[in-house]
Amino acid sequence: MTGVSGARVELRSLTKAFGAAKAVDNVSLEIPAGAFVSLLGPSGSGKTTMLNLIAGFLSADAGEILLDGASISAVPPHKRNIGMVFQSYSLFPHMSVAENVRFPLRMRSRLTRSAARERVAEMLALVRLAHLGGRYPRQLSGGQQQRVAMARALVSRPRLLLMDEPLGALDKKLREEMQAEIRRIHRSIGTTVLYVTHDQAEALSMSDMVAVVHEGRIAQAGAPRALYEAPADVFVADFLGDSNLLAARCLRTNGDRASVQLPSGELIEAMQGTCAARPGDDVVVLIRPEDIAVEDMTTASPIAVAVDPAMRRSEACSILSGTVRDIAYHGDVFELEVLVGAIVVTVKVGRAHTRALAPGKQVSLCWNATSARLLPATPVSA
Ligand code: ADP
Ligand code: MG
Repeated sequence: MTGVSGARVELRSLTKAFGAAKAVDNVSLEIPAGAFVSLLGPSGSGKTTMLNLIAGFLSADAGEILLDGASISAVPPHKRNIGMVFQSYSLFPHMSVAENVRFPLRMRSRLTRSAARERVAEMLALVRLAHLGGRYPRQLSGGQQQRVAMARALVSRPRLLLMDEPLGALDKKLREEMQAEIRRIHRSIGTTVLYVTHDQAEALSMSDMVAVVHEGRIAQAGAPRALYEAPADVFVADFLGDSNLLAARCLRTNGDRASVQLPSGELIEAMQGTCAARPGDDVVVLIRPEDIAVEDMTTASPIAVAVDPAMRRSEACSILSGTVRDIAYHGDVFELEVLVGAIVVTVKVGRAHTRALAPGKQVSLCWNATSARLLPATPVSA
C-alpha cells in the first residue's frame, strides 16, 4: 500500500469515568508513528474504553488525544480517519467479501468506480483473499472473516488502526497464524497500530512496544524484552509470563546489588533494578522459572542447566535446597514445583534434562544474581 504514513499518537492525562468508577484514569502514552503498540491488561482494566476514546465513540472527561500533534477532540469519529477491527467481525452477511471491503469507500465520493475497484483488489491481495472476493461471509472460516474485517478497516487508508482483541474468537493454532499475518500486514503498510489483548504472549511477540494496563492506568510501557526482564512492579512481573515472586527483607546493599533474606532465613543476592531498596525494607524478589538451574543433590549431577558452570560455585550464584513436589509436562518443557522450606519455587526444565526427576527428589536450585530482581513489596501501579 502506498501513500500512507502512520500517525504519531499522544494520549495526555486521559480520564473517563462511568459513574464513580474511573475506567481510564489519567493515562498518558506516546505512540511513535508507524509503530505496533499493544495495550495489555486483564479484562475490565480499561483497554476498550481507551480505544473508544481514541476512535471518538466516547468523549473523555479530561485530557487530550493528539494525532501528529493536533488535538482531535473536536473531530467527529468518521472524520478521524482511524480504522477499527473488533473481536466480532461484524461483516454484512448479505454482501460479498468484495462488497464488504468496498463499503467504507461508498461514504467517500472522491474515488471513481474504477479506482475504488482497484483499491478493493489491492486490499484483498494484502490480506491474501484475492480469490475469494465473490464469496459471502458465511462461506468463510473465522480467520478468513477476520482478514476481510482487516481489509475493510484498511481500505480508507487510515493513519491509525485500532484492533480490539481481534483474535479472541480463534483457536490457538489459527491465532498464532493470524498473529504472524497481522505483523506481515503491518510491515507492508505504514499505518500505526494500537492493538488490544489480554494475552501476554501475543503482546510480547507482536509488538514494538507494550503498555501494561492495570485498573485504568498504564502500569508500565516499553519494549517487550525490557518489560519482561525489568518489570517495574509485582503486577507487571506477574502479568507478563510466569514468575517466582518471593517475599524477602533487604539486609545489605552494594551499588546495584542487594543481599536479601527469605522468611526461612536463606540469603539471596539480587539486582536492585529500579527498586532502590534500603536495609530493613520489605521487598519482593523476582526470579523467572527458566533462569533457575536444578541439580540432583544426591549425585551432584545437573538436571537442568541454566547457569554458567564457572559461576556455579561463586558468590554470584544463589543456591537453595528443596524437594520436588510436583512435575507438570508442557510438551516443550517440564514445570517443577520445588518446596523450599515453606515456599514453592517454580522451575522450567527442558525435556532433555528430566530423566532423573521424580516427586520427592532432593534438589538444589541455583541461579545467577543477575537473574534475580528486587521489586517494591507493594505494587506502584495499584
Ligand atoms: P477492558 O476492555 O480492559 O476489558 P473496559 O474498557 O471494557 O475494559 O471496561 C473498563 C471498566 O469500565 C470496567 O469496569 C467496565 O465494567 C466499565 N465500563 C465499560 N464501559 C462501560 C459503560 N458503557 N458503562 C458503565 N461502565 C462501563
Ligand atoms: Mg475490552
